[in-house]
Amino acid sequence: MRILFAISFLFATFSYAQQMRIGVYRDHDLQRIMCAYNEGSYSVFADSINVGAILPNEYVEMSVEQGKVLLKKGAVELGVFSRIIVQQNNPKNSLVIASKSPSLKQRKYMGDFEITCSGNELSVINLVELNDYLKGVVESEGGGGAHLEYYKVQALISRTYALKHLGRHAKEGFDLCDRVHCQAYHNMLRYSSLIDTAVRQTSGLVIVDENGDMIESYFHANCGGQTCEPQYIWNEEIPYLNSFIDTFCIYTKQATWEKRINKKKWSDFLESKYGYPVYDSVFAAIMYTFDQSQRKAFYIHPSLGIPLRDLREEFGLKSTFFSCYPEGEDVVLRGRGFGHGVGLCQEGAMKMARSGYSFEQILKFYFPGAKVRNEQERIFFKQTSERF
Ligand SMILES: [Zn+2]
Ligand SMILES: [Zn+2]
Repeated sequence: MRILFAISFLFATFSYAQQMRIGVYRDHDLQRIMCAYNEGSYSVFADSINVGAILPNEYVEMSVEQGKVLLKKGAVELGVFSRIIVQQNNPKNSLVIASKSPSLKQRKYMGDFEITCSGNELSVINLVELNDYLKGVVESEGGGGAHLEYYKVQALISRTYALKHLGRHAKEGFDLCDRVHCQAYHNMLRYSSLIDTAVRQTSGLVIVDENGDMIESYFHANCGGQTCEPQYIWNEEIPYLNSFIDTFCIYTKQATWEKRINKKKWSDFLESKYGYPVYDSVFAAIMYTFDQSQRKAFYIHPSLGIPLRDLREEFGLKSTFFSCYPEGEDVVLRGRGFGHGVGLCQEGAMKMARSGYSFEQILKFYFPGAKVRNEQERIFFKQTSERF
């Protein structure tokens, strides 16, 4: 059997044939899951003992039993074990994973699985090669761009993120989780051949800054016509991420939004959280009126210390890029964009791809000063030079 248990967390020396460990279904407390055949061939190991294969129309079921994993094949109980490995016998096989408790939509994954018990829940880890993982991420995060150059952009962003943050969940026994916390990876294996081609054709490519370090590859759905300074959102300056005008996204579906909020709710929040002088007639008169034709960090005036990011969070706004005015009992917000606005604007990038720009040109536009580097070659040359 392959040395599945001895896989260690590799950072700088990540090799491209290496499987990554992705914690899946991390949004849910799993009590019972089912692994069913999808394609190829799989063997099941229970505490290192081969207990047979999963053949077409077959499945194995695992549930929590006194801090261990109860394994069933069909209706037959095979015993209680510490660790179950579901291992593909050849590359490029896939499994259907379904959670029975709680009942969740089934997902399809490539690669191997390791199932253990953690407290009163099952811990499910997908061991998957980087490019197969990226196809799932591009499918989950990429939206319906449906253009090869756009999917290449998303593949580079996701690969850069994965390699930069590999091992983020080392304490929990895996490299990355499948939530937005790391990168969404909710597999259906429904991705088009375009995603497959995009990941393959950009294999090994990552985005680096002028010092050669992998960048923080932030992205969002729509910037509303101007990207946002990172320090407006995270109090952090990032040299390759500055605010600039983006006209590619302004006629797309999430370019504008409107929301009405009760004046009392608005003023209560400003007063209680920031001590806004609501009884001062001058300040009261301007409390609901704000113009933001260019992105700003603070509401009304910086001296009042009301960060727009706080208003976005409190009132569930699509973006911080809004102007507002009072009308009747409400304050009316007219906003632009969707998301934090830092880094790559997905709808702008889709428009650029449809207009004939290459993925390199799109990345240059959204990450000025950053470069594309072949990490695979670099690792190969590094390993070769270390050996000789
Ligand atoms: Zn995570
Ligand atoms: Zn944009």
